[in-house]
Formats: sequence, C-alpha cells, structure tokens
Amino acid sequence: MIQRVNTDLKKDLLKLGVKDWNECFHCGNCTAICPLSENELLFPRKVIRQAQMGLETSLQANVSPWMCYYCGECSDTCPRDANPGELMMSLRRYLTSIYDWTGLSRLFYTNKYMEFAAIIGLAIIVILLFAIWGPPLDPSLTSEGGVKINSFAPIKWIELGDWSMAVVVGALLISNILHMFYKVIIKPGVKIPLTTYITELWKLPTHFATQAKFRKCDAKGKFYWGAHWLMMTGYTVMFTMIVVFLPEFQVEKVNDWWHWQRLLGYYSTFGLLFGLIFVIIGRIKQNNQIFKFSHLSDWLFIIMLFLTTISGIMLHLFRVGGMPYATYYTYIAHIAILIPMICIEVPFSKWSHLAYRPFAIYFAALKKEAKELEYKTNLSPEAA
Ligand code: SF4
Ligand code: SF4
Repeated sequence: MIQRVNTDLKKDLLKLGVKDWNECFHCGNCTAICPLSENELLFPRKVIRQAQMGLETSLQANVSPWMCYYCGECSDTCPRDANPGELMMSLRRYLTSIYDWTGLSRLFYTNKYMEFAAIIGLAIIVILLFAIWGPPLDPSLTSEGGVKINSFAPIKWIELGDWSMAVVVGALLISNILHMFYKVIIKPGVKIPLTTYITELWKLPTHFATQAKFRKCDAKGKFYWGAHWLMMTGYTVMFTMIVVFLPEFQVEKVNDWWHWQRLLGYYSTFGLLFGLIFVIIGRIKQNNQIFKFSHLSDWLFIIMLFLTTISGIMLHLFRVGGMPYATYYTYIAHIAILIPMICIEVPFSKWSHLAYRPFAIYFAALKKEAKELEYKTNLSPEAA
C-alpha cells in the first residue's frame, strides 16, 4: 500500500477535538492496560503513532478507533496526560468525516454555525410543510370527539415522509459504509475469500444488538454499557415503530396501557430517559474520564434526543388526556426536532457509530482471517 504522509494531519485532528495527544512518548502503558486491545489489533498506542507521523493512509485503513468504547482507563493512567481515550474519540470523528463522501460530516464537525443552520433549516421546513398541508387550526379537529390524530396527520402522508427519510438516510449511510470498506479492505489490497465474508457475517447483527465488547470494560464500564444499551434499544424500538409499524403505532383510538404498542412505547421511553439522564449528569459533573471532554457534537446529540423524548412523552400525555390543540402543536414540535436529528445525526455525526462499530468489528475479523490464510499458504509445502 502506498503511504501518504499528511503534514497537516495534526491541524486537521485539532479541529476535530484532539487535545494533548502529542505529549505521548510511547511508553505503551495505554495498550497494556486497555481491556479491549488484542494481539491482532493493538491500540491505542499504534494509532497515536500513525497520527503523530501523519500516516494518513494507514490511519484511514485502521479500524481500531471503533474498537475503543471509551472506558477511560488508558487516560486515567497515562504518565504524560496525553488523553489517549479522548484521542480515540476524536479519531472516530475524523474517520466519520473521511467515510462521508459528501463532505457534510466534516463541515458540521468543524463549523458549528453550519450545523446549527442545517438543524434549524430542516426544522423550519417541517413546520412549513405542516402549515401548508396540515390543518393545525381547523376547528373541525377540535369541536367534537377529542383528539383526531389521523385526521390532523394522515397516516399515508406521515408514512410517505417516514419512508422517504429512511431511504435517503439509509442510502447515505450505506454509501459511507461502502467507502469505509474501500478504505479498510480494498485500498490496502487485502485479499479475502468469498466464504470468509459469509462465515464472519454473523458478527454484524450480534455486535450491533449486544455491543458485547463493551462489557469487557471494568465495573464502571459495565454500568455504562447497560445505560448505553438501554438507550440504543429504546431508540431502535421507537425508530422501528414510527417507520415500519406506523399504522399500528399512530391509531385514532387510544389503546389500553397493556397493549403491546403502548408497552413497547413505555420500554423505549424508559430506555431513552435512563441512558440520557446518566449521560447528561455525567457530562455536567465531568465525574468520570469518559465525560471529561465534550465536543459540541456530543452535546447536540444528547440534547436533540432528550428534546425528542420529552416532546414524545408530552404528546402522549396530551393525547391520552384528550387535549386536541396541545396534541397537534406538540406533534409538530416533536417532528420538527426528530427529523433534523435523524437526517443530520445518523449519516453525518455521532449516531453513525451505531453502524460503523459493527462493520469495523466485521472488517477486522475479515482482515484477521485473511492474514491467517496468508500465513498458512506461506507455510504450505507448495510455497516452500
Ligand atoms: S498515550 Fe500515554 S500511556 Fe499511551 S503510550 Fe503515550 S504516553 Fe504512554
Ligand atoms: S478508552 Fe478504554 S477501550 Fe478505549 S483505548 Fe482507552 S482503555 Fe482501551
């Protein structure tokens, strides 16, 4: 693989939040102490070296930043306060901006005005769409019979909007993953048999659903894993319900509280609130290495998710309480927060890690298998 040295890489990384990592004198303590570092994929020291030397090609082919779950043990014990854990976090931002071929990820990570403009712009478009096509002030929706949610927001229009958004966001994310595949596997010239692609495929859904590597962290890390897992499953359940099962989710008649649709909604709300409160308190108090540094993208992600959750809870309460106007206006506010959050955070920012992490684990397994195969081939009598 031809190596490209980028002498401006340090400046690039500084813009993405890296601090103090140039203090590293390569004692190796962080790699020795990291509970997730493995023989085949040593980190974080190796990746720090690549960053310091401006080895851009190697850095972009390296998936180890996604293997780090930021338990903070390496930063706690680094003799030079070089913050290796935070470096891994910043490198995840760097890699996200590299995989994203549109350049929007880099723009949002490095220019807060553009990110705010995109969020507010999308929110205004949503409000305008409701003002033009929706009937928020139509007296027939409030005069009798309580809340008429499906007359206010017809299922077929909301479903059309949901699926359009899911297709666009999915296409962007998939194209970024293909770009990641090119950087990690194709460009370095890794030769992988087709059967290996298939036999290792189970790692993708398994690591997405369980985030099992996270559990290898210390006791604090296990609690963080629990909170993160609740938040992730809460979000995934809610996303599936509002996109795939919208006709069962947005029904005119309010179901009994034990109905599966409401129970899933309550689980999702509990998971999101539990995880969010844990993260917000941690980031405010900065009582743990993992919450010591907060990039703007970290705050935007949790604030938007928190506002979406709270507006969703209020919407539910107004609807169950039979308050039409409060329900309709909260519905608009809820969608005006939800759409920019999904359209910006999922393909271009923090949420993309939900896809990149399992793919990084999958690609690392492919590379490991390819290496073992090459080793066996070189040892074979024919090779001799
Ligand atoms: S980051 Fe710190 S612990 Fe890791 S190799 Fe550098 S000096 Fe040592
Ligand atoms: S933060 Fe934890 S998982 Fe990440 S490199 Fe440091 S010790 Fe390893």
